[in-house]
Amino acid sequence: MALAKKDEAKPAIRTLLYAQKAEAEHAKLYQDALDNLGKNADVPLYVCKVCGYTVTKLPDKNCVSCREPVSNYELIK
Ligand SMILES: [Zn+2]
Repeated sequence: MALAKKDEAKPAIRTLLYAQKAEAEHAKLYQDALDNLGKNADVPLYVCKVCGYTVTKLPDKNCVSCREPVSNYELIK
């Protein structure tokens, strides 16, 4: 990250920030699944094709991470 900032590589910085947010959310989803092991209900998973952010419920208009339109979310089956 520091190297990307030094080089003013804005696209790289944006990608790293997206990945950081997406992985933090993935960690929460994994922890929820572990906490409910054996009694997890099937929930839909939607992944933003722009930034990789993953949700179980679609946001109203825009991705909560990259702010692109919600139409960029894809249902993972
Ligand atoms: Zn997104």
